[in-house]
Amino acid sequence: MLRLWNTLTREKEEFVPINMKDNVVTIYSCGPTVYNRAHIGNMRAYVFMDTLRKVLKYNGYKLNHVMNITDVGHLTSDADEGEDKMEKSAKEKNMSVYEIARIYTEAFFNDINRLNIESPEHIVKATEHIKEMENYVIKIMNNGYAYETSKGVYFDTSKLKSYGELSRIDLENQKAGARIEVDPEKKNPLDFAIWIKSPKEHIMKWDSKFGKCYPGWHIECSAMSREYLGDVFDIHTGGVDHIPVHHENEIAQSKGATGKNPAHFWMHVEFLLINNGKMSKSLGNVYLIEDLEKKRIEPLSYRYLCFTSHYRNKLNFTWEAIESAQKSLHRLRNLTKLHENGSENIEQDEIDKYELEFLEAINDDLNIPLAISVAWDIAKKEKKSNKYYELLMKFDKVLSLNLNGGTENKVVIPDEISKLLEDRKLARENKDFELSDKLRDKIKEKGYAVKDTKNGQEVEKI
Ligand code: AMP
Ligand code: ZN
Repeated sequence: MLRLWNTLTREKEEFVPINMKDNVVTIYSCGPTVYNRAHIGNMRAYVFMDTLRKVLKYNGYKLNHVMNITDVGHLTSDADEGEDKMEKSAKEKNMSVYEIARIYTEAFFNDINRLNIESPEHIVKATEHIKEMENYVIKIMNNGYAYETSKGVYFDTSKLKSYGELSRIDLENQKAGARIEVDPEKKNPLDFAIWIKSPKEHIMKWDSKFGKCYPGWHIECSAMSREYLGDVFDIHTGGVDHIPVHHENEIAQSKGATGKNPAHFWMHVEFLLINNGKMSKSLGNVYLIEDLEKKRIEPLSYRYLCFTSHYRNKLNFTWEAIESAQKSLHRLRNLTKLHENGSENIEQDEIDKYELEFLEAINDDLNIPLAISVAWDIAKKEKKSNKYYELLMKFDKVLSLNLNGGTENKVVIPDEISKLLEDRKLARENKDFELSDKLRDKIKEKGYAVKDTKNGQEVEKI
């Protein structure tokens, strides 16, 4: 039985998908705002997202997972204030907003690829779903949960009795602390913008029923999750910072539009700290994956470090900690390798016992630290057996630490090829073998050979 912690109920609950018949789990993950490079703190959120995916798959589920790319209209403060992050970055770097979005989206996929993080089935860009967002805003308005001012369209929080249910915030306190209004026409201090009338100088804006506008950040996720997953889906993920504003507001919007909470499970990953403090530009401690590589730390050592702490606990990054994670990872790989050609006879009962221990650990709200300790117990066995090796390979489907070797075995696949592989995977799922063969040829033209194995597509450089 898989149990997951649900922020909404503050309980570990048994996970049962909505679509039990087809065994498909629907997930929405808040993705990156592509105005600069994602740092290792952001990466913790995606390692968590990936682990959830792999635990679900290990349990035999198929996935229909959507992640958004916020390439528009996310202000420097979550609460509709400050400058637009994308436009600010474009101005600073003297580039167009579209160029900024393209560069950082590419960099993001590069980073997650190096951490063995799989891409969700659907990657959806905010700029390509503006019409769906406008329609969503109109739906909320028609239902009486939003009103128009000269600055935009606001969600009327006073209309929703349950507002605040996710963060369980003290609304009275929150109201008293609400900052000076950006819009004096707002009816209630906690009302938030869902559709913003664009000032002249704003670059990203679209014609709409309300004039030239751009969407609020929260509406992006509500409209896109509904578009791909329907009114209600299984799991919504994000960082803990999303609980009080972004996700609270997504729930409010869904209730305003459809009357329903959009997700059964709300899952949140805790923050990565640096030397027990915040990561910040002024402290010069905002590290990227490539900063680790400059110090000869391979990206998967960071993945290993993430696994030393449960996702709902804070994790502290220090250079000593990452170096020690790297040593452990290399040792675990070396020990695993020693079993590869081992011929000692091992009772099946023992294998089954370890397999069960591992399964129970990952199914207990993704207890990866415990699951890794099971892997260590096996790797350290005096008796060398291929049965142990095969079991560790099975565990590595969840852990994705390349336990079968080092980074040297891993082909670094360019984004362009990854995209073609994704398309081909989809074509095969849809049994469109003609398209699948065409894509194989295209991949070959670009210098890569793709093989279909029982573990999916495998690719190597020709
Ligand atoms: P952003 O691109 O700023 O929206 O952030 C992308 C994701 O990274 C969100 O899910 C955040 O909650 C998460 N995040 C940001 N900083 C950290 C951190 N220090 N540790 C863990 N997750 C973080
Ligand atoms: Zn979101």
